[in-house]
Amino acid sequence: MPSPDDEELLLRAEGLVKTHHGQGVPVHAVRGVDLCVARGEFLAITGPSGAGKSTLLHLLGGLQRPDTGTLWLGGECTDGYSEARWAVQRRTRIGIVFQFFNLVSDMSVADNVELPALLGGTAPRQARSRREELLAELHLTGKERGMPGELSGGEQQRVALARALVNQPDLLLADEPAGSLDSRATREVMRLLSRIHERGQTIVLVTHDARLASSADRVISFFDGRIVDDSRLDDMPKGSTGIANSLGHHK
Ligand code: ADP
Ligand code: MG
Repeated sequence: MPSPDDEELLLRAEGLVKTHHGQGVPVHAVRGVDLCVARGEFLAITGPSGAGKSTLLHLLGGLQRPDTGTLWLGGECTDGYSEARWAVQRRTRIGIVFQFFNLVSDMSVADNVELPALLGGTAPRQARSRREELLAELHLTGKERGMPGELSGGEQQRVALARALVNQPDLLLADEPAGSLDSRATREVMRLLSRIHERGQTIVLVTHDARLASSADRVISFFDGRIVDDSRLDDMPKGSTGIANSLGHHK
């Protein structure tokens, strides 16, 4: 049952479980996750490789379905959502960025960013002006006509961010967005995430790197399919090594 404070809760998960059945033994990737994310929150989910972070993020974005458990999005139960319904959510309310950018390689930067807006029903002129605004904000002015393959990794990830944000989603999900970037591009992407958050965007960031997690205002440590720690960082200075150290305990 939705609780009275659901207005404030963008995401609410109860008892999420997901087991992968590939070849070999089943893998219990997510073993019972309860989670609430408030509007405007910047949440990081951190933990070692194989902990189940990506699986959890996929569940939150409807890219995979839980075996059991329930997920509410903006107070609405998603249990009965069809694939098509989820696709609409991802076009309108949820933006996603991945480690390897997933840009359309034979489309220009401008088209990569505008396409989701056009598919979402935005008028071409407005799609274009949003694209221009976002690319300027993400320091990509002048790259519009380029193809993704001509850009650096950091630039491609910023294009992917612009694409994820073009429909002004309530929620941005980011899975290791700096995982394939050098340290300079990593800092740039993290700065941009912080700025996007300061404007009011809700962000769930998955990272194995506890230092990146310290940009968030709340950090969940994920280990072996479960949440083992959930801390608000409000009273700690950003980038404090104390945070990284405390997270290190779960490694
Ligand atoms: P993380 O993102 O924390 O590294 P993942 O969610 O990717 O963790 O993976 C958790 C576990 O589930 C790992 O053991 C991984 O090998 C396994 N896994 C992930 N996706 C699949 C899949 N599609 N099929 C089978 N096993 C999977
Ligand atoms: Mg992962």
